[in-house]
Amino acid sequence: EAKRNGRNRYEHFTLEMDDLARSRRVIENDLRDAISGRQLKLYYQPITDGDEKGIIGYEALMRWHHPIKGLIMPNDFIPIAEETGLIHLLGAYALYEACREAASWEGDQSVSVNLSPLQFKNSSLVSVVEGALRESGLAPHRLEVEITESVLLDDTLGNIRTLQSLKALGVQIALDDFGTGYSSLSYLRSFPFDKIKIDKSFISDMGDSREALAIIRAITGMSRSLDIQITAEGVESSEQFARLREEGCTLFQGYLFGRPQPSELRLKTLE
Ligand code: C2E
Ligand code: MG
Ligand code: MG
Ligand code: MG
Repeated sequence: EAKRNGRNRYEHFTLEMDDLARSRRVIENDLRDAISGRQLKLYYQPITDGDEKGIIGYEALMRWHHPIKGLIMPNDFIPIAEETGLIHLLGAYALYEACREAASWEGDQSVSVNLSPLQFKNSSLVSVVEGALRESGLAPHRLEVEITESVLLDDTLGNIRTLQSLKALGVQIALDDFGTGYSSLSYLRSFPFDKIKIDKSFISDMGDSREALAIIRAITGMSRSLDIQITAEGVESSEQFARLREEGCTLFQGYLFGRPQPSELRLKTLE
């Protein structure tokens, strides 16, 4: 009896695995079409100094407008792009498209593009960035790339060299989602980052977690001596904004200031 139960459960499990594998394959195929069929679009979310300069830049966040499934968010397709190697194509698309659109903006705001750690495994990353800048005519200092600390975890030396080459082009480098993962403060000595973005989980927790607040404080305290700008992400309330400012954050991003929008609608977020 128990045995049969076990077997059933096992069969059920393998069926579910089949389903999962099948739906992943479907998404993988669809994603190939998406790249060639203009279904991927970058949305831009404002980043502000919360003061005189106002909006100093925008983060480019990818959206997939699937012909049948509708809007698909990056957390539901970036991992599949990474597993299938499509991330290289998708990542190059993001760089070219973000630079092209930013070059058409009236102001001189920067544009931040997220890089997958896997893009560092491709030796052409630097030339892709160079190509995106050249083709768009965007001034290099207006492009910022966002990496996560996992890039510093493996092939540390090789990846730091790649970061140095990007920096040599004039591109700015931000460390994203800081505070999650391993988050050794010593990473900050291994490369001169222009910005650190504190992960939004700390911002949402800071109201009732002394630990979250303590970590925010440790990061801003250290940034002052290292001359790094600190961006708070996921700022949703004016209370959070005021507090983060007191704690020494210098840049702010979140629904309080604007949601990600297509390039042509960016200015609507200023209302
Ligand atoms: P991220 O780089 O940390 O981007 C910030 C995420 O927080 C975005 O989610 C943004 O929409 C969301 N967000 C911003 N303000 C708020 C707020 O006030 N409250 C809340 N609850 N959320 C806020 P999104 O657009 O779903 O992107 C998720 C992640 O997908 C990004 O996290 C990034 O890691 C990845 N991603 C997005 N576009 C790309 C891309 O072009 N390439 C790569 N490799 N990854 C991308
Ligand atoms: Mg980011
Ligand atoms: Mg982030
Ligand atoms: Mg994130």
